[in-house]
Amino acid sequence: MHARPGQPGAERGAPLAWSVLALVAAFLALGLGRSLLGVHGPGEDPAHAFDADHAWAHLEALVALGPRVAGTPGGEAARAYIEDELRALDLEPVRESFRAPTPKGPLQMANVYVDLPGEERDGEPAPVVVIATHFDTKDLPFEFVGANDGGSGTAVLLELARALAAADPGPLTWRLLFLDGEEAVRRQWLDPDNRYGSREHVRQLRRSGSIDRVRACVLLDMVGDAELKLTRETYSDRELLDLFFEAARRGGHNLRVGARGQAVRDDHQSFLEAGVPAVNLIDFEYGPGNRYWHTEDDVLEHCSAESLGAIGEIVLLGLPDLEARYGGP
Ligand SMILES: [Zn+2]
Repeated sequence: MHARPGQPGAERGAPLAWSVLALVAAFLALGLGRSLLGVHGPGEDPAHAFDADHAWAHLEALVALGPRVAGTPGGEAARAYIEDELRALDLEPVRESFRAPTPKGPLQMANVYVDLPGEERDGEPAPVVVIATHFDTKDLPFEFVGANDGGSGTAVLLELARALAAADPGPLTWRLLFLDGEEAVRRQWLDPDNRYGSREHVRQLRRSGSIDRVRACVLLDMVGDAELKLTRETYSDRELLDLFFEAARRGGHNLRVGARGQAVRDDHQSFLEAGVPAVNLIDFEYGPGNRYWHTEDDVLEHCSAESLGAIGEIVLLGLPDLEARYGGP
C-alpha cells in the first residue's frame, strides 16, 4: 500500500437516522441469535472464538518462508501454505490464476479464496461480504519478509477462517480472499503497477456477474504492529469504518483505534472502483514515523500476538453488524 499525504478522501456525513437504523437492526440480529452468535452460549462473546496464538503461529510460519514476492517460488510457497491450512479446516480453496502484465514483463500470479456460504433465501444465494488481505511481499533489494506488511493480515484471515467455519451459516456468505500482487513491482507506486490481485478478482466478479451479490469488502493490511492503532483511512467507506471502530470500542479495544486520518492506497480501492463499499483496516504508522514500513525492520519482533488477537476480535465483533446491515430481505 502507499500513502497519499495531503489527499484526504471524500468526506461524507453519516446521517444520524441511518446510524440509528443500523443500531436497531444490529440489535434485532443479536436478538435472533443466528449465525455468528448461534454457536455460542447466551452472553458469551463471539469475538473470543478468535485464537491469537493460532494467528501468531501462522505469522511465524509465513515469515519463515522468507520473501513472498509475486511470481516467485516464495510467493508460491505462501500460497501453498494458505491452501494447505484451509484444506486442514475441511474447506475447499479456489486458486484464481492469472498472468499480470508488469513493468518487468508478464508475471504468473494467483489469488486464493474460499467461500463460507450463508443461507439461501427464496432459492437465492446469500449476499456476499469479502474479507481480504494480501500475502505477497514487496520486491526490495534486501531480505524483506513483510511480517506486518503481507504477513499479519494473512495470519489473521487464516485464523478467521477457522473461527467462521465453526459458526452456523448466517444471512451472508463470507468470501475470504488472499490476494497476490498488491505491491508495486517498481519501487514507486504508479498505477497500474500495483493491486494486480484485487483488480483481477474484481474483473472476474464483473465477468461472471456475481459482483452484484457483493455488498462490501473488508480489507486487512498491516494489522500486526505491536503498538497497533488503526488509522482512520480516508478512502474507506465512512460508515463501514465507523462500524468497525465502534465494534472495537464495544470490545474494549478503544486504544486500538486512532483519530489520525490518512489516505492509504491499497486493495480496497479495486472494490471501491467497482462501486462496492470497502474499508481498509490498517495501521499506517508502523514504528515512529512509519519507519519500519518496507524496511528490514518489518519483522516478527515489531509485531505481537496481542495485536493479531485484537484485530481478530474487532472483525468478529463487526461482522454481526454487517449481517444486520446487508443480510436483510
Ligand atoms: Zn507494502
